[in-house]
Parts: sequence; C-alpha cells; structure tokens
Amino acid sequence: MPYPHLLAPLNLGFTTLNNRVIMGSMHTNLEEQINGFSRLAAFYAERAAGGVGLIITGGVSPNESGILAPKRVILSRQQHVADHQLITSAVHQYPTKICMQILHAGRYGYHSQIVAPSAIQAPIVPFIPHALSHDEIEQQLEDFVNCAGLALEAGYDGIEIMGSEGYLINQFVCRHTNKRSDQWGGSFINRIRFPLEIVRRIRQRFGENFIVIFRLSILDLVENGSDLQEVIELALALEKVGVNIINSGIGWHETRVPTIASVVPRASFSIITAKVKKLTNIPIVACNRINTPEVAEDILKNDMADMVSMARPFLADSQFVNKAAIDQAETINTCIACNQACLDHIFVNKVASCLVNPRAGYETLLNFHPAVSSKTLAVVGSGPAGSMFAIYAAQRGHKVTLFEQNTLIGGQLNLAAKIPGKEEFREFLRYIKQTLKQSRVDIKLEQSPSYDQLSEFDEVILATGTQARHLDIPGINHKNVMSYQDVIEEKVEVGENVAVIGTGGIAFDVVAKLTSNNTKSWSLLEKQQDFAAHWGIDYSNKINGGLVSPVEKLDNEKRITMLQRKVRKPGAGLGKTTVWIHRKEFKNRGVRTLSLVKYQGISEQGLQLNIRGKHTELEADSIIVCAGQQSHQEYDLTKFSQPVHVIGGANNVVGLDAKSAIESSAWLAAKI
Ligand code: NAP
Ligand code: SF4
Repeated sequence: MPYPHLLAPLNLGFTTLNNRVIMGSMHTNLEEQINGFSRLAAFYAERAAGGVGLIITGGVSPNESGILAPKRVILSRQQHVADHQLITSAVHQYPTKICMQILHAGRYGYHSQIVAPSAIQAPIVPFIPHALSHDEIEQQLEDFVNCAGLALEAGYDGIEIMGSEGYLINQFVCRHTNKRSDQWGGSFINRIRFPLEIVRRIRQRFGENFIVIFRLSILDLVENGSDLQEVIELALALEKVGVNIINSGIGWHETRVPTIASVVPRASFSIITAKVKKLTNIPIVACNRINTPEVAEDILKNDMADMVSMARPFLADSQFVNKAAIDQAETINTCIACNQACLDHIFVNKVASCLVNPRAGYETLLNFHPAVSSKTLAVVGSGPAGSMFAIYAAQRGHKVTLFEQNTLIGGQLNLAAKIPGKEEFREFLRYIKQTLKQSRVDIKLEQSPSYDQLSEFDEVILATGTQARHLDIPGINHKNVMSYQDVIEEKVEVGENVAVIGTGGIAFDVVAKLTSNNTKSWSLLEKQQDFAAHWGIDYSNKINGGLVSPVEKLDNEKRITMLQRKVRKPGAGLGKTTVWIHRKEFKNRGVRTLSLVKYQGISEQGLQLNIRGKHTELEADSIIVCAGQQSHQEYDLTKFSQPVHVIGGANNVVGLDAKSAIESSAWLAAKI
C-alpha cells in the first residue's frame, strides 16, 4: 500500500477514522452567500468523496460576541440546526467523519461587541474589548456547551474547540492577553481553567461517544506566549477532561512571523509538534505547510505526529487522498501556498477559492460536464490560461491541440518557479504537464500556428499572454538596462547598484531573487533551520512563545532602489496576507523605494530622475525594467471564419495575474 502511515485507520475507541488525514478548518465565506449552506454541503461532500478521513468545518461562533466579523455564522439556537444538517448528511454519504469547529474570536472580532479576559486591544483590530466579568465568563462557558450540543444534534461526529491562533481561549491561556487576578487569570492553573471548563462541561453534558478535538497553540509566537512546558501541561490536562485529539496551532494572527506562506519551508512546524508528541499520549496532529502525501507520510513515519491536517491542499485538489491511495500523487494539484484566492479573498469578503483550482468554492456553479458534441479546439499559448483551458476542455471530451511557441509548457509560471520562496510553482507546472498528458491534449511545442493551420479547428482560443511594457525613456537601450525575464532566468549579470523600475508583483519577485541567500542546494532540514533563525523562531519553545532574536545573515550586498511614479506602498496590488512578509524582508535588507518619480534618461552612470520637481541622479550599474505588461495578441481576429476566444493576458491586462487568467479560462472551458 502506498503511504502506509498516512492511510492507516485511527481507532478512537467509540469510532474509527479511515485514515490519518484531516481537512483542517478554513473559513470559505460560503455561509454568507445565497444558498450558502447548500454550497458548503457540496464543497465538503466533494472532499469527503475524495477520501479524507476527517473534515473540520470553518469556525462557528457560539454567540454574538464571538463572531469574527458581522454576519458570520453562529450556532446558538435550535433554528440554526437545519442548515448544518445539510452539511452533515451530504458528508455522511461517504465514510468520512466531520467535526464542527467552535470558534470564539474574543478580542480578534472585527466589531464593537468584542470581549476578552482583559481589556487589551489587539494590534490588528480597531476595537477595545470588554473585559469579561465572572458571570459573563460563566455565560460564555454555557454558550460553548450549548453550541456543542446543537452541533451534535445537527449530526456532526464531534467538535473542534478552537484554542489557538490568538482567539478567546488562547487569550485566556497566555499572559500576553490575560492580566486578570481572579480565578480566571494569574497562575497558569487559573489561566487554563477556561478551556478545561469548556471541555469538562461538554463531556459532562453530552457523554463520551463523540469526538472532541482541541486546537492547542503549541507555538504562540507572541511575547509572553506559552512555553513548551505549559503547552504539555495543558495538553495533559485536556486529555484528562476528555479531549480525544490535540490539533496543533501555530502563531497568533498578530504574529509577525510567516506561518503558512510559501516562504515557510514545508513541514517546518512539525518539529514542534514532534516535541509535544514525545511528552503526551493523546493523538496529535501536525499542520502548516504540509502539501504532498510524501511530506505527510514522512511526518507520520518519523513519529512526529499521529495525524496530519491540511486545509488549503483540499482547495487545490479535493481528490488528494484518493489519488495518494492509488499511488498517483503526481496527478495531485498541489497547493502552492500563494494565499491569493483563499485567504486573500477572505480579507476582502469574497468566497475562498483556489488559484490552481478555481472550481473550489464553486462546486454547484462551475462544472465540467461532458460536452454535448465534441469539438476540435486549437489553443494558442500554454501559459496558465491556455494550459488550464486545454485541460478543462479536454476533460469535457473536446479534442484539444495546444500550440506553444517556446520549448516549454507553462509561460510565465516558469519564471515564477525560479523565485526563491515560490518554488512551489514547480508543482503546479508538474500538475499541468501530467494532466495535459492524461487528458490527451495534443501538444505542439515550438509552433506558432498559421491562419491556415487554425482554420482546420472548430474553434480557436488565443491565450498568447502578455509582453513586458516597452518604456520610452531616452537611453532605454543602454547596455545596463535589463529585462526582468533575463534577470530571473540568470541570463545577465546584475551589478551591485541596482535600480528597479516598478514596484508591482514582478518587481517584488525580482527583488526577492536579488536579495535572497542561495538555498538551492540545502536539504529540507537546513531550509527549516535557516527559516527559523531568520525569523527568530525557537522550535524548542523554551521561553516567550517560541520567539527569539532573529539572526540576520546578509550574504547579499546589493544596494537596491525600487522606483514608482505614484505614491503608494510598494506591492500595493499584492495580497494582504503575504505582501507584509516581502516588505519586512526588503526593509531588513536595505531596499529603498523612491516615489513620485519621473524618468528622464538613462546613461552609463544610471538614471536621471525628476522627483517632486527636483532633478536627481540615481547611480545604478543595472536598471531592471518591471514596468507592467501589455497584451500580446498578433492575430487579426477578422481573418477567422470560426468562433475565436481571446483569454487571459492576451485579452486584458487590467487586474491580470495567474489567478484571474486561470479563473476566466475555466468558466469558458465549462461552457464551450
Ligand atoms: P504591476 O503589478 O501592474 O506593476 C507595474 C509597475 O510598473 C507598477 O509599479 C507601476 O508603477 C509601473 N509602471 C507602470 N507603467 C509604467 C510606465 N509607463 N513607466 C514606468 N513604470 C510604469 O505589473 P507586474 O509587476 O508586471 O505584474 C503583472 C501582474 O502579475 C500584476 O497583476 C501582479 O500583481 C501579478 N503578479 C503577482 C505576483 C504575486 O506574487 N502575487 C507576482 C508577480 C506578478 P507606477 O505606475 O507608479 O510607476
Ligand atoms: Fe493554495 Fe494558493 Fe490555492 Fe490558496 S489559492 S489553496 S494557497 S494554491
């Protein structure tokens, strides 16, 4: 059997989980949509059909004060139960278990009714929480119990109590946020009373035969967070009051250390899960940046955890477990940890989806049903839009030929994969190549088809992408001016004094490449250790929630200036959940930004600029142009007699990125 540890059942006594894979809790924003619970039911059912052992739902609040933001879902009354039954009955068509997560946001709620153990404002929220009185704490406990009871009534196999990420329970546990001097604060015993009381009362009220998972913050990554000894003590106490499984939580939302972005080496935080496992007996779950069956299997094989939790990988591919079980891991659409369509969507109140799988979250709306009649389709260009269109259309039964003028499939994805911290894009390229082959797409490399060739197809899809914007600056053809493609592909040597024209996504990629230490030859462990040292993480969590002073290793001595004509934060169009990481990195590495720049000329010495009306010379031995894109589409559409569709960057560059290119190609492929 492939992945014998990952696919082994887990016997909890009163119930058995089919395998060691948990689909971790994530908020999708679906609940807030029209027919939201039906859409959620379809979303979870598809993952259950994909073989996952246990699903944990997105967080559900036990009361009004616990919601993360206005209109978020609450389970506090009988009338709420029917919605949840849609989910549980859909999932229980399969041998998958499902637990509902009870989440009380505490001071992290984005509304004025927030409560906390102490009235200390969170740095990421503009409201001061009300400090709970003893009676109010009693009411909160009862609300947790009531919520758990309703969840069981709705048919869930159990509950997960969210005790990490800096939410209410975590706020009680840590001195960082708990400054009380009554029985709910002060000593460690007092601070953990709140979570223990929740579990104790739930077990007392509803018995033993349902799953209780506790998401325990094993590495707070905030000042005055719990240390390892406290984490172990709480885990042991939770087991005693009736918790069946401890899930790991890493970092608070206010933590200024990346915990799930692609810059985090895979499985980095399993190191700390392993330490907790050694000192406890209860099954423990590893999480964060686990995205392939190989990585998951290694964690279990090396006795670092009893289960693995993956959330985003189930957005990327609902069939993750089934594909692993038939030993076809190479066909898994791997989560590349970009956050662009999942977390970044949640921050702007959009439905969570997935860059590499736009069907995620749209299971009832975006379907690739067999085509009524099979057409011959010519797709020109194999970037993200063209390749993914070809896959979806071929899977519907169309006969697809994909033309690519270069020697490689993937277009600009090949550049992204060369950026340090974005290596996961290689997995997406692997998936695309594998799936094109499997879907029997006829690939014609190094070919730009003529009108005559294209006339033989029923329909033509032009996905010829973009080209870099040409700048009309005097001296732009000087030898010290370089394209971002040449820099990323290492076709040119970049000097010490660098000017980057542009502060958008490509400029960020280029600067990331120029400022990174070379990690190409490192083992995973070396990458994990370097990451921890660089961001000040103590995996052994001896003190202070695992925070130590970062070790700044500056192998890089380039002086880099990024330039923009407007005034705004560099990388303004990039995702909220990752852009701060790059800004912090660039700041540490002395990258500066000049705004309100007018480009006047380029010479041997560098750039002549006008900044706020003042002439300025910027010394630079390399000037890298990252000034945006223009559509690249050379065909005359009037010369086609059959239907022609222009997709992705070839159609429009406004708001274009890989996510939007793939999304639009998927919707076209579903209806063509
Ligand atoms: P972009 O994000 O639109 O940035 C273009 C940059 O060029 C801006 O900083 C702009 O700043 C500057 N610019 C525009 N016209 C100019 C001109 N005529 N002369 C000089 N400067 C000019 O474009 P991109 O960097 O090429 O990226 C393309 C798309 O891919 C974007 O949507 C981007 O978000 C996406 N992308 C995303 C990622 C990611 O990690 N998520 C990575 C790479 C790319 P001023 O107008 O202020 O000068
Ligand atoms: Fe993973 Fe990116 Fe998809 Fe989110 S959008 S699930 S991070 S691949």
